[in-house]
Amino acid sequence: MPVLVTSRDGGVSAPPYAGLNLGDHVGDDPGSVAANRKLLVSRIGHPVQFMRQVHGARVCVVREAGPPPEADALVTDVPGLALAVLVADCVPVMFEAPGAVGVAHAGRQGMAAGVLAATLAALDEFGVDRAALRVTLGPAICGRCYEVPAAMRAEVDRLVPGSAATTRAGAPSLDLRAGLVGQLAAAGVGPVVVSDSCSAESADLYSYRRDGRTGRFAGVAWLEPCR
Ligand SMILES: [Zn+2]
Repeated sequence: MPVLVTSRDGGVSAPPYAGLNLGDHVGDDPGSVAANRKLLVSRIGHPVQFMRQVHGARVCVVREAGPPPEADALVTDVPGLALAVLVADCVPVMFEAPGAVGVAHAGRQGMAAGVLAATLAALDEFGVDRAALRVTLGPAICGRCYEVPAAMRAEVDRLVPGSAATTRAGAPSLDLRAGLVGQLAAAGVGPVVVSDSCSAESADLYSYRRDGRTGRFAGVAWLEPCR
């Protein structure tokens, strides 16, 4: 049940998307994005299913690679089909269990809308034992960087306790991964692996907050077929 998080390294896109931009909705040359996605597929060795993310909580069950559905989470029980979530500050969430995997796009809005709970409910239908589920929260903007208005911080923290934070400069902010860890604990999920890497502070990652016009990196999860 491997998971993988990409970076800017190794792709063909030109600035401001320089590197392995996997987002086809950000203004990058479509030929470059297609070439980068082909590089990802060859690195993984399986087809990769993307989605059209809309900061919601809709989950799609996929059984073969096809056109991207409008969704913010994907789950599958099919070995050899990789699922990808695209991010540039939002949290890429990867779920791994024996027999099923999933990915979710958890930014401020998706987290508050309950995208994790929706993904867990979809995985439940595959008979996944939540205590045995391994969840990885990948690189994302950190609580020391993600400044938001005070009213927004209060509203999000009301919906997702533990997400309120403070920037280095003392301004109100959100710590998305802290909020997600709380949601996962409340849902009875087993081990959670939390990246401490901040997209806004890492030159090798895309960050919308830092750069505006930029690319997207991916979190990917798949079931390895028996060999
Ligand atoms: Zn940061």
